[in-house]
Amino acid sequence: MNQRRSTLRGDLTPVEILALLGTAGALDRRQIATRLRLGIATVHEHTGRLLSSGYLRALAPQTGTVGRPRIPLQVVPEAAATIGIRVAADHLVSVVVGLDGRIMTSDQSSFDHHSDPVPQLLDAIRRYLGDPSVGPRLKGVGVAVPDPVDPATGYIRFSPRFGWTDLPLGQRLRAELPIPVLVDNVIRASTTAELLYGAGREHDDFLVLGIGDGVGLGAVLHRRVHRSPNGLSGEFGHTPVSSTGPRCPCGARGCLETFTSDRGILRAARRKGLADADTSIEAVRTRSASGEPAIIELLAEIGTILGRAIAGVVNLLGTPAIAVIGENHDLWPGLEPGFLEAMQASPVAAAHHVKVIVRPWHDSQHAHGAASLALAHPETFS
Ligand SMILES: [Zn+2]
Repeated sequence: MNQRRSTLRGDLTPVEILALLGTAGALDRRQIATRLRLGIATVHEHTGRLLSSGYLRALAPQTGTVGRPRIPLQVVPEAAATIGIRVAADHLVSVVVGLDGRIMTSDQSSFDHHSDPVPQLLDAIRRYLGDPSVGPRLKGVGVAVPDPVDPATGYIRFSPRFGWTDLPLGQRLRAELPIPVLVDNVIRASTTAELLYGAGREHDDFLVLGIGDGVGLGAVLHRRVHRSPNGLSGEFGHTPVSSTGPRCPCGARGCLETFTSDRGILRAARRKGLADADTSIEAVRTRSASGEPAIIELLAEIGTILGRAIAGVVNLLGTPAIAVIGENHDLWPGLEPGFLEAMQASPVAAAHHVKVIVRPWHDSQHAHGAASLALAHPETFS
């Protein structure tokens, strides 16, 4: 058996068991051990705790033709829940996620990033805490923000998109709330969800590429979401690709996302006479879906820029899969030819064999990622 090393898995094991049972249905301990590549003793230890906490229930024993009866274990979705909030420039998307990883309820509220974000976030969170059908079950809150943030403290030194500087967001929220609060970058939040419910089912190492109004890259290595000590990992969009390119909101010139984000795609379309100042990214998506040749050609060129940048990361890490997420995932058919060509042009074999998984996307998925932060917090199910 390809046994995973416990030192690398740490405290994620209970939530991985819950996520597996939540998505695959009831399984017995031996099946859990096989699916998660864990030792049977480890599974007994964790499922014992989860059963006594009421997070799992044991179903009637099933008697087969050989061996001892098997006892399927089932997650109790409503036994506990976490809140996830995605902070966008002008709105908040919030969800409550049950122990099975499914969204129980979702909501959207307005948000003004020019005003203090803390009271606005507290309003959204307290609505759930005060709801008698949800509040008593809530174990934690995850908040996903764009731009760099220290995941250990939730401290934001500088947010280019929102203009926030020296904001102790995590500390201020924790001071006001009775449950744990985790604040992390949006791509690392969604990478956590992908580890628990998506590509992590098949792969111990993979990348998550988020394409939308920015470009982010999350990495799972040995079943851990990579987080640097200062919270700067994932800022792939600010990879310098041209010293003479457009100015980026971060202040630098020629960052990757000045070519490959919404703004970059629209800028390139305008330069080619394919769009004017009023053209929206939604219009580009529609024209891409209808197969307009000039748009397809433009997207292939942008895919090449993206592919060159990713090839460097894949050659460094050797990750065998990339999950593509985000609002612009539906541009992928246009981006893909240039992307794959650039990957395959790499002289190193690692980039040649990457499996690309494009995820269906909806606005609440980053919020689901944020809820996964709270689910995956070491103390939530300890
Ligand atoms: Zn930048």
